[in-house]
Amino acid sequence: DIVWRTPLALLARNAAQAPNRLALVAASAGGGESRLTYAALAFQVDVAAEALRQAGLAAGDHLAILMTNSAAAEYVAIAFGAMRLGAVVVPLNARFAPPELRAAVEDMDCGFLVHETAFDTVAAGLVAACPALAGRTIRVGGNGDWAARTAAARPRPESFPVVGEDDLADILLTSGTTGRAKGVMLTHANAVATGIAIAGALSLGPDDTYQSPFPLFTSSGFHFNLMAAWWAGATMVIEPTVDLPATLARMTRERTTVYCAVPAVYIFMLDAYDPARHDLSAMRVFDYGGAPMAWEVIRRLAESFPHVELRQTYGLTEAGPTGTFLPGRDALRKLGSLGTAMPLCEVAVARPDGTPAAPDEMGEVVMRGPAVARGYYRNPAATAETFRGGWLWTGDLGRRDADGYLYYMDRGKDVIIRGGFNITSMEVENAIFEHPGVKEVAVVAVPHAKLGEDLCAYVVPQAAAPAPDALMAFVAARIADYKVPRRWVFVSELPRNPTGKIQKNVLRERARDDA
Ligand code: ATP
Repeated sequence: DIVWRTPLALLARNAAQAPNRLALVAASAGGGESRLTYAALAFQVDVAAEALRQAGLAAGDHLAILMTNSAAAEYVAIAFGAMRLGAVVVPLNARFAPPELRAAVEDMDCGFLVHETAFDTVAAGLVAACPALAGRTIRVGGNGDWAARTAAARPRPESFPVVGEDDLADILLTSGTTGRAKGVMLTHANAVATGIAIAGALSLGPDDTYQSPFPLFTSSGFHFNLMAAWWAGATMVIEPTVDLPATLARMTRERTTVYCAVPAVYIFMLDAYDPARHDLSAMRVFDYGGAPMAWEVIRRLAESFPHVELRQTYGLTEAGPTGTFLPGRDALRKLGSLGTAMPLCEVAVARPDGTPAAPDEMGEVVMRGPAVARGYYRNPAATAETFRGGWLWTGDLGRRDADGYLYYMDRGKDVIIRGGFNITSMEVENAIFEHPGVKEVAVVAVPHAKLGEDLCAYVVPQAAAPAPDALMAFVAARIADYKVPRRWVFVSELPRNPTGKIQKNVLRERARDDA
């Protein structure tokens, strides 16, 4: 009776209607690769559900998962198996340090832990610190107990509880860069709504093979990718790590039609692509999102891959993640735009008092729709601040043009105020990026005694590195004088989060310490 309103109902639909279609290509904990049809995947989810039930997991329990994409096949079965039982999945960020993991397990009330044996030491520490986990852990891979548990499990689907569309499916953690990570509460219906929105934004269909490196513990890997693939009935190829030669070889082998990653991945792809070795003739769409993409990189991609449509998606975990998308036909006509709302989403720009901004007036981006989260778990203060007046306040600054196209200015906290002038880091980065000697760049604020804030540019140079003076002159010819960074730091790489986004908060601290 709730067909198509929960992820499991989607999976069941696909297993019934296209049982032999390839659903998942993913690394398996035992080493090697799993290739599962929709029928096989649905069965694996039931097996995992039964194994978890026999281990003591029940409806309403919060299950923490500490695993990576190198065990993606098990990850998917375990996460959706837990949902099948009505348990709530809490994917832990595998890059978190032990105190962050402990805070997440405690704050999210996790009473069960599944982890890869690669995390044995960390997990032992977690169990010692969190008594609720004692005797309630499962180990996957290596000499773990998961293989034996699943081998013995005989699922009886009729015995699984009925899961309601408005029940919590998972709690996804924010990156926790500013204090403790918050838990974004998403329901089964939220997850399906995300799938509908993303499948629409990427125009995914049953003939597509969709490949992406997003970690399963992020909203992009867990909801954006999997739910879109399941809604469309497409094949999902989950990459174990970000490794561009392997990515290109996999695209060639799987005849991938749609690929999605953060902008940085495409910068490395431009370097690694070799038309003599890689056949991307099946590729239809390169989707980039999660962080701003420099225009220069868009131009270079269009040159190197003329037959591939460059699409952009913009969104955030609190919205599923859903938001806006920009199809290739608009990429040049609306250069720099994030596009218009995805299916099921409503996106607007608001003034601080909640009234709508006029066309081209800058304000905060707000969203609403069926994919938007229920709030932050056990955090009423943060919930009240972000989910207000029926809208999700994104913390992103932007404007919409007269045609309704959204333009991103910056994350509120990334805006630089130099001597009273507001500067968005993106416009400065775009100007720097036009220099052929620049491979990557990030511009952040650094405290300044007289100006309040000054600009500091972190640059990863190409092999032939430009001199800072030359770069400064180059940029000064392109943007207003007050926007030109006075401080330049050359580095070999930029700090990134697990999805590959540049961590500006880390750079800001570094710049402040160096000042
Ligand atoms: P946190 O929000 O906790 O710092 P995070 O960056 O991992 O962590 P997400 O929800 O994945 O959290 O990120 C959403 C944010 O990423 C958006 O609010 C926006 O600032 C940025 N973003 C996403 N897509 C784009 C895009 N296409 N262009 C520019 N920025 C984007």
